Amino acid sequence: MTTTVTRVTHSCVLLDFSGQHVLTGPWFSEKPGYLRGEPLAYTPTTLPALAAVAASHNHYDHYDVTAFAAYQDKSVPFIVKRGMGEKARRAGFTNVTEVEPWEQVVLDGLTITAAPARHGVPEITFVIQGAGTTVFFGADTLRIPDLDEVPRRFPDVDLALLPVNGLQIRPALNRQVVMNAEQAGEYCAVLRPRLAVPTHYAFTAGPVRDRLFLKYNGTPERFQRAVAKQAPATTVHVLAPGEPLTVE
Ligand SMILES: [Zn+2]
Repeated sequence: MTTTVTRVTHSCVLLDFSGQHVLTGPWFSEKPGYLRGEPLAYTPTTLPALAAVAASHNHYDHYDVTAFAAYQDKSVPFIVKRGMGEKARRAGFTNVTEVEPWEQVVLDGLTITAAPARHGVPEITFVIQGAGTTVFFGADTLRIPDLDEVPRRFPDVDLALLPVNGLQIRPALNRQVVMNAEQAGEYCAVLRPRLAVPTHYAFTAGPVRDRLFLKYNGTPERFQRAVAKQAPATTVHVLAPGEPLTVE
């Protein structure tokens, strides 16, 4: 049994649990104010057949249902935070399940468990298990104390996918809405994953909008330094979109 992880772009990640593919945070298009800042490794029509899709919150760059509607199999199990289902159903998806933290969806060979999160809008994170491996998908959350419960329930996490850009909203008095590289490093010390892959760092709103609205300083390099200092048992791999990593 082999598990591999491939970043599609941003927090959109393709996990391959011995042939059972799970996609997180579907984001396949761009619009003004939402630029990937890095390549897109797959489109909805070049993706392999998916066993499940997991969407954490209703932000365009994490739940781009309109573009993802080009994916052919509309009966793919689509797992979303409670309240997000209608948008996927309207786009034609027929097998949508809404979950809250600690609710579980068991599929053929896969278990997907919702976990806590805090962000500008209602959000969940996910623990995704298959092929004998456990993956924590950190979506777009802040580093909140509730996340300490994840390693209590899942003591053997093989891979953590963690956002690192530390996004702050300038017009909201620089309110922080995503954990930064150092907070993600500190969380690795608590979660104790064998491997960690940073996500959510190349995104930009464009030079003008960035100056007006957004503030962020988290980079993969800062995350690597933070993990080396705070969680040396965890190995960080920085993955370019399309570059696969074997987890086990
Ligand atoms: Zn978001």
